[in-house]
Amino acid sequence: MPNYFPLKLTARRMLAPTVAHLSFIRDDGMPVEFTPGQFLQVHFHYADGTPTKRSYSLATIIEHGPEASTGISAEIAVSYVTGGAATLLFESLEIGGRIEASGPYGRFCLMPNDSNRRYLLIATGTGVTPYRAMLPELARLIADRGIEVVLLFGARTPEELLYGEEFRAFAARHPQFRFVPCFSRELPAPGSPHDHPDVRRGYVQEQLAEFSPDAHTDIAYLCGNPNMVDACFETLKGHGLPVPHIRREKYVSSK
Ligand SMILES: Cc1cc2nc3c(=O)[nH]c(=O)nc-3n(C[C@H](O)[C@H](O)[C@H](O)COP(=O)(O)OP(=O)(O)OC[C@H]3O[C@@H](n4cnc5c(N)ncnc54)[C@H](O)[C@@H]3O)c2cc1C
Repeated sequence: MPNYFPLKLTARRMLAPTVAHLSFIRDDGMPVEFTPGQFLQVHFHYADGTPTKRSYSLATIIEHGPEASTGISAEIAVSYVTGGAATLLFESLEIGGRIEASGPYGRFCLMPNDSNRRYLLIATGTGVTPYRAMLPELARLIADRGIEVVLLFGARTPEELLYGEEFRAFAARHPQFRFVPCFSRELPAPGSPHDHPDVRRGYVQEQLAEFSPDAHTDIAYLCGNPNMVDACFETLKGHGLPVPHIRREKYVSSK
């Protein structure tokens, strides 16, 4: 039975020209419970009254302690698409406005029994949000198990590099975490904030060979655009990664 609850919008900021970071609190006084990597569903009606829903990964970073699955806010990054029903809902939602949600759902999470030496985290667009939520857990795994992490993040341009400063700052604090932004259309200008030796040009799937994916050391996570997920899945299988070591979340429309 889905767990339905009301969410109240508390803050909105634009992460990129068409991507909003929205912060909600539960409007029933309950905490937001989830495991990093999970998503919510938002329930609403089309103009003709037909009920519908859309899914959004939780981006919330909960910094404190082992009770890390409980927080106060539900943060999501919403990519606005022209004519989108949920896009209209979110664009017109005022601070203090309420929506209905359910969840959490999904198993796109770090697994406690994994004994891999490295995670390859791969995303395009808002598909990077689960990895933002995972940062405190990754920091613990780096400290406790000495793992390495490569975050390959595909964006068209530097202004579309969602949470880019946060990932770069995390990489600076954790040398075992490499943040590798891949720009398909426009590279950062020399000396600009996203200019860094780890920046690559092209699509994420084209960069995988550089990191020599290895069945003995690696577990990969793929999130975002379904075509990217399929392309990376095939490439990683080609490098010998077994299917259970390639975990996927495709952002398909749930219309
Ligand atoms: C598990 C899961 C997690 C998801 N997490 C997120 C998330 O964290 N953030 C997020 O923004 N979305 C996420 N999505 C996608 C999201 O659920 C919606 O599909 C998306 O927000 C579009 O909804 P909409 O109602 O605005 O557009 P719709 O009314 O569904 O679509 C309107 C038009 O836009 C097209 N369209 C839909 N999506 C895109 C797109 N991305 N690019 C270009 N055209 C598009 C449709 O084909 C259609 O023609 C997730 C999907 C899944 C399955």
